[in-house]
Amino acid sequence: MPYVFGFAEGDKDKKELLGGKGANLAEMTRLDLPVPPGFTISTHACRAFRDSHELPVGLLDEVDEHLQRLEREMGRRLGDAENPLLVSVRSGAKYSMPGMMESVLNIGLNDESVIGLALRTGDERFAWDSYRRLVQMFGRTVLELPPDRFEQTIDAVKLHRGVTNDLDLTVDDLRHLVDAFTATIKEYTGYAFPQEPREQLRLAVIAVFKSWDGDRAKLYRRQERIPDDLGTAVNVQSMVFGNLGTDSGTGVAFTRDPATGQTGSYGDYLPNAQGEDVVAGIRNTLPLADLASIDPSSYRELVHIMGVLERHFRDMCDIEFTVERGRLWMLQTRIGKRTAEAAFRIAVQLADEGLIDMDEALERVTGAQLARLMFPHFDSAGADVPLVHGVGASPGAAVGRAVFDSKRAAVRAVAGDAVILVRRETNPDDLGGMIAAQGVLTSRGGKTSHAAVVARGMGKPCVVGVEQLDVDVVQRRFTTADGISVNEGDLVSIDGSTGAVYIGAVPVVSSPVVRYFDGEVSDTGSDQLIHAVDRLMAHADKRRRLGVKANADIREDAARARRFGAEGIGLARTEHMFLGERKEHVVRLVLAPDETARQVVYDDLLPLQRADFAGLLEPMDGQSVTIRLLDPPLHEFLPDVTELSVRVALEDARGRTSTDHHRLLEAVRRMHEANPMMGLRGVRLGLVLPGLYALQVRALAEATADRIAAGGDPYPEIMVPLVATVTELERVRGEAEQVIAEVSAARGVSLEIPIGTMIELPRAALTAGEIAQAADFFSFGTNDLTQTTWGFSRDDAEGAFFTNYLEARIFGVSPFESIDEDGVGRLVAMASQTGRDAKPELSLGVCGEHGGDPASIHFFHRLGLDYVSCSPFRVPVARLEAGRAALSVEGSDSR
Ligand code: PEP
Ligand code: MG
Repeated sequence: MPYVFGFAEGDKDKKELLGGKGANLAEMTRLDLPVPPGFTISTHACRAFRDSHELPVGLLDEVDEHLQRLEREMGRRLGDAENPLLVSVRSGAKYSMPGMMESVLNIGLNDESVIGLALRTGDERFAWDSYRRLVQMFGRTVLELPPDRFEQTIDAVKLHRGVTNDLDLTVDDLRHLVDAFTATIKEYTGYAFPQEPREQLRLAVIAVFKSWDGDRAKLYRRQERIPDDLGTAVNVQSMVFGNLGTDSGTGVAFTRDPATGQTGSYGDYLPNAQGEDVVAGIRNTLPLADLASIDPSSYRELVHIMGVLERHFRDMCDIEFTVERGRLWMLQTRIGKRTAEAAFRIAVQLADEGLIDMDEALERVTGAQLARLMFPHFDSAGADVPLVHGVGASPGAAVGRAVFDSKRAAVRAVAGDAVILVRRETNPDDLGGMIAAQGVLTSRGGKTSHAAVVARGMGKPCVVGVEQLDVDVVQRRFTTADGISVNEGDLVSIDGSTGAVYIGAVPVVSSPVVRYFDGEVSDTGSDQLIHAVDRLMAHADKRRRLGVKANADIREDAARARRFGAEGIGLARTEHMFLGERKEHVVRLVLAPDETARQVVYDDLLPLQRADFAGLLEPMDGQSVTIRLLDPPLHEFLPDVTELSVRVALEDARGRTSTDHHRLLEAVRRMHEANPMMGLRGVRLGLVLPGLYALQVRALAEATADRIAAGGDPYPEIMVPLVATVTELERVRGEAEQVIAEVSAARGVSLEIPIGTMIELPRAALTAGEIAQAADFFSFGTNDLTQTTWGFSRDDAEGAFFTNYLEARIFGVSPFESIDEDGVGRLVAMASQTGRDAKPELSLGVCGEHGGDPASIHFFHRLGLDYVSCSPFRVPVARLEAGRAALSVEGSDSR
């Protein structure tokens, strides 16, 4: 297979091979759009380079062949002293990694062709400035010289000439800079700046390949979960110039607003500038609409092309373009990154416009985006007048302490501070700070600046282009036009939707999407976002096969879960019912000398438990409510051993000895376990402490009978935790069935309460066939199952060494967050299979944290489980992802 492909040879589906940029340049070429000709060196070549650390054999010959073709097509030659061809060399991986890798422009300029360029353009200053840019960019990215060296030289020349603006430098100044830069290169590297264009190209290609493994790119990939072994393609393209005068310029455009999803073209334009100037946010841009008056014909053509692209890609596209002396050129297009709000709105708009169907619309949004839409917003009533206003570039409310450099932002975030990263503009080196920050604030740039694009990708609130702010990174403060200063460490609040910046912490309120799920929005048609969420949720519900239940322990959570669309409670943890004031009962239970004394405690607890269960059954009328019998070790409900020891010692010293306290201390010491997670908890507790589970079962049976008597429709279930062997389950089941029969007889109702078990120990998974004989359902407790399968303490590991594991890439994401498909997942698969083989009607669910995690939901769908259960707030996310899972082809991911 060749390594190099002309633009006419590729298409949009070859992203794996040509990278996103290369594939779409090829697609635009096929569509006959005005794309400067060129070719793409494949990712395959990059992978070969990574393996052998040299360019693969034959690559340069292929490049040469394509160059010759390009020279013929353009009627210009690289390095020509009269009419030179210039090319750009740009990275472009399968997934967009904005600004993370290198590009080199103006390749082909040397001491001779600079004269040719001056002749061709009739602009000597432009030619020398282009040459100056090449040597500088080449020195920095290809030869890895410190960028300051070049900047200092420019500053020195400006000082000498008494000018402050680059544009005031003359041809002679620029010539002098080229000489100075080449001398610097010689001094640093021992080699002269290569005059031979093909050598410039060769070195630039190597630099782009190497930048795939640069620190920035690696960090970005880890953040975005992009595999390391994909490699980048390299696009070599004839240069067009946006800096050839006022009839030239460059811009970035979106076919819809990437922040809100509003229809209509949208973007930024910079007259008389090169492409990099826009994304770098160095100069403030004009709104795209201004191009309509600057250059009506280019504007009309651009708007037409945007329509063509959107219909062709059937999605919102982002575009980079250049106008060279009144002629429009398309430099890039891709499916545009967008905020969560825009994703929902655009998906439904495109479905309404008939470009996609609702299945595809559903595939275009994610649970992570929905979760983002459920974040709180600023309370405008509670907010003071904003200090300043900029451009809202990535929505959401963020409050934190102002920090003015990325390294410090990362350090303070690790120390537990919420920080807002404040910069004049960001560049790819700020990635670490942006990841660490709650939000990003810049004084320059537009909605397409680096800060805006990256923050949107991360779902972080971001305000850019606050021109009134003077950001002083050295003194670490910013100052408004009115002279108000904010220093490092001061609290600020930024609103990425409106662009408002406040001093201090502004109170936040729930999002409109949450209010919609809560049933507080009656007219779903008036707000486009709510309308889009409503349509997509309805479609997800129509498509999904997985049921979605909630983990809820109290009435309010149960009621909210139901409003959020939960189809029952998959896990009610009963432990909180023994906390607070009720701890006193646990103390009495532990101190009870015999069965009679214990029964007195149970009698006191019974009405409390009954009321607890009634509170869950009522809001979930008609839906199942799975009550899990008490799980944690009893000592968790008792006083702390050290505190109690001190109290008893003090009492003894004062001669006020209390026998009860002594007995309690003795009991607490007796029950102390080195490893309580592996100790007397779950079903073990139920079997060792007679009457405890019977009490809970009785309370549930009686609450059910009460509910039936009140005309309700309860569906309780009993779930036994931490079962390792079927014998444990059989014992508890026998006792529970007897209690249920007693209550049925006493109340004159037939109570049918399914009894099932959690599968949360490897032994339970391994013996699922036997356990199924005694269970009406399985619910996978993937928290404990992950803990026990990996041997990681769930309370300690994430805070202890997981960061090292993540950095060392031993796993890409914590197995407590997203199911470890190969290990824990295999146990789930096996237990499901053997359980169903033994009992085909066995119901299967998941109630660990993974039940609300998008990737895990797709996995559980593929295994054919019946439902997932998660916290109420994640119920909408789970519904959406369960719907998406039903659409995905086997093995597709949820990224
Ligand atoms: C589990 O282990 O996955 C589970 C749901 O139970 P808990 O988190 O209460 O131990
Ligand atoms: Mg558990």
